[in-house]
Amino acid sequence: MVGRRPFLGAMGTMGAVSLSPRMSAAAAKRDVIKELGVRTFINAAGTFTKLTASLMAPEVMAAMTEASHHFVDIVELQDAVGKRIAELLECEGAMVTSGAAGALTAGTAGILTGKDQKKILQLPDLTGMKSEVIIQKSHRYGYDHAVRATGIRMVEVETAADFERAVSDRTAMTLFFNDADGRGKIKIDEFVALSKKHKIPSFNDAAADVPPIENFKKYTKMGFDLVTFSGGKAICGPQSAGLLLGRKDLIDAARLNTSPYSDSLARGMKVNKEEMVGMLVALEMYLKRDHAAEAKEWDRRAEVIVAAAKKVKSVTTEVTVPPIANHTPSLKIRWDQNVVKITPLEVAKRLREGSPSIEAAPGTNRNSLQFTVWMLAKGEEKIVARRVQEILTKAAGA
Ligand SMILES: *Cc1c(COP(=O)(O)O)cnc(C)c1O
Repeated sequence: MVGRRPFLGAMGTMGAVSLSPRMSAAAAKRDVIKELGVRTFINAAGTFTKLTASLMAPEVMAAMTEASHHFVDIVELQDAVGKRIAELLECEGAMVTSGAAGALTAGTAGILTGKDQKKILQLPDLTGMKSEVIIQKSHRYGYDHAVRATGIRMVEVETAADFERAVSDRTAMTLFFNDADGRGKIKIDEFVALSKKHKIPSFNDAAADVPPIENFKKYTKMGFDLVTFSGGKAICGPQSAGLLLGRKDLIDAARLNTSPYSDSLARGMKVNKEEMVGMLVALEMYLKRDHAAEAKEWDRRAEVIVAAAKKVKSVTTEVTVPPIANHTPSLKIRWDQNVVKITPLEVAKRLREGSPSIEAAPGTNRNSLQFTVWMLAKGEEKIVARRVQEILTKAAGA
C-alpha cells in the first residue's frame, strides 16, 4: 500500500485524462470547433457532404460513446450489426460501409472476387478476371469513380439493344444510378430484367433516396443484387457511414475486400465500431420517425420563408419536391433584379457572412436563391425568413 501512494499522487497531478480514454466532465464541455475559430452555421442548404450533411441525434452519439468504452472483435460486431440491419430492412444481407461511395467500391470488389482469396489480393489488377461494368450513358456520374477504383472499365449503353450487344464474358456487373432513372432510355424494371436475363449482378446506387422509407426495401425486393444508401444524409447516422444491402454471398465477399483485412482493396475504407453501432441506432430511429408529420413540418417551414420573402415587391417563389433524391421541399426565390437590386449569389454571400451564418443551397445561381429546410433545427426557419426579407427589402430601397 505504501508503495502505491506516490504513484496515485503522480496520477492526481498529471490528471487522469491522459491515462484513460473516458471523458472527463471538463473534456465533455470543450467546443473544439469554437476553439479553432471554425465557422458553424444554420444549414438551409441540405445534406451536402462539404457542409457535413446532417447532424446525429444524442441517442446515436450516446450509443457511439458507450461502444467506445469496450473492445470487441470487429468481425463479430460486423456479423451482428449486419444481421440486425438485414432483418430491419428485410433483405438477405447487410453491412455498414464507409459511406455509399465506400459501398460502391467494396460491393463491386466483392462481385469481382467472390470469396477467392487470390483475386482479393490481386485487385485492382483484373488480369484473368471479369473486368467490365455496363451502365447507361445518362447514368454516368461522379460517384462511379468509386466503382472504377476496382480496376473495371465502364461500358456505356443507351438502349436495351445496346445492353444486349454489350454483354460478354467480360461483364462483371451492371450499375444503375437511381436518381437518373428519368434520364435513361432503359427504365429501372427493364434494367433489372436485362441484368437477370444475362445473370449479371446488378447494383443500384440509391444513396440520397430515402425518404420515402419504402425505398429501403423496394430496390432489393425489385431484384437488385446490391443497393446502397448513404448513412450520413437523411438517416442522420455518422457521415462516414453507409449501408450496403443485398445478396448475402455478395455482402460476405464485399466484407473480405475491406477492413479488418489488411491486404484488401478497400482496407482504407475502414469502419470503426462506433460508426457501426451509430449507423444501426440512427437507422432504427429513422425507421420509427413519424415521416408524415415530418413532411408536414417541412412544408410549414418552407411556407414561413416563402411568406417573408413575398413581402418584398416583385418576389416570386416556387417550392418543389424532387420525386427521387432529396425528396424534400426545395425552395427557389426569384425577383426582378431591376427592382430588388441584388443578385441571388450576393444574398447567399450576405447570409453566410451574417450572424448567425446561414448557408443557402449550393444550387443558388444568378436567377434564384435556393434553400431546403430539412436540416434546420426547429425555429431556425424564422431566422432564415427574417434575414432574407431584410436583405431583399434593403436592396429594394423601400
Ligand atoms: C452522397 C452520394 C454518394 C456518396 O455517399 P457517401 O455516404 O457520402 O459516401 C454516392 N452516390 C450518390 C448518388 C450520392 O448522392
